[in-house]
Amino acid sequence: MAVELKAAELMVLEAAWKYDLGTATDQDMAMAKLKATEMLAMVADEAIQIHGGMGLMEDLPLERIWRDARVERIWEGTSEIQRHIISRSMLRPLGA
Ligand SMILES: Cc1cc2nc3c(=O)[nH]c(=O)nc-3n(C[C@H](O)[C@H](O)[C@H](O)COP(=O)(O)OP(=O)(O)OC[C@H]3O[C@@H](n4cnc5c(N)ncnc54)[C@H](O)[C@@H]3O)c2cc1C
Repeated sequence: MAVELKAAELMVLEAAWKYDLGTATDQDMAMAKLKATEMLAMVADEAIQIHGGMGLMEDLPLERIWRDARVERIWEGTSEIQRHIISRSMLRPLGA
């Protein structure tokens, strides 16, 4: 979980850095959004699993985080649409 969190953070920072330089591409942004939101879903789910049934109780903030995390793979471009953007960026230069 820590490794995935760090990987997502680095991808977001790289995309932001490129944006500031004016060199960011659609692929950079789509990869950062896809990685960060898929990571969030995995980490929120694993956190509940670690806590067992307690993870679903309102005593802990985990189930709320898990529910809130779900929308991140839908709005501002779903994960499937981010994958479309990434594959298009990779394949178009090859004439596909
Ligand atoms: C809480 C919330 C707040 C929102 N706020 C805003 C807002 O402020 N402003 C705004 O403009 N919108 C907002 N939205 C809308 C949001 O942007 C859309 O829900 C999102 O773009 C997905 O569109 P859709 O719901 O019509 O799903 P659909 O487009 O019907 O997609 C359904 C599923 O099919 C998949 N899919 C669709 N097309 C393809 C394809 N070509 N290839 C593969 N898979 C595909 C999608 O990835 C998704 O999994 C909000 C949504 C939610 C849930």
